Amino acid sequence: MNILAMLWKNLWSGPRTLIFPSRPKVSAQYRGLVRFNPELCIGCAICKMRCTSHAIDFKGGKGEFTWSYNPGQCTFCGRCVEGCKEHALSQESACPPIYTTDGELKQSFTLTRKPPAPRPAPAAAQTAHPATGGAQ
Ligand code: SF4
Ligand code: SF4
Repeated sequence: MNILAMLWKNLWSGPRTLIFPSRPKVSAQYRGLVRFNPELCIGCAICKMRCTSHAIDFKGGKGEFTWSYNPGQCTFCGRCVEGCKEHALSQESACPPIYTTDGELKQSFTLTRKPPAPRPAPAAAQTAHPATGGAQ
């Protein structure tokens, strides 16, 4: 399209800017706010290490830990969600809400560390091989 045609088209197509509080439509694959499920979190802090934007903060204490998320610093890259093997993190597919105060959407959870899961009982003694004269 030549420049004159483009200018003509833009002249008659109306404004593209949305007036607040209108929001642009987003696709189903859109990655929005990170959601935290405290029931599944084991306090490994991998999400904090993967977050290069420092949107996730993690402070470990004796018998407890604090997990915090500041959407104002989040780039919605999804690295924390991908790195959480416990599936304690997910991302919304909607546009994040508009906010006017810094830290307004910040979330913080202080959780008690869960005791380690009991190890599975050792498997029953293997059946001896017939060639060695053991029972089958
Ligand atoms: S949210 Fe996931 S990666 Fe982050 S501390 Fe909890 S279990 Fe670990
Ligand atoms: S989506 Fe990216 S920037 Fe946002 S908290 Fe997770 S790792 Fe950090």
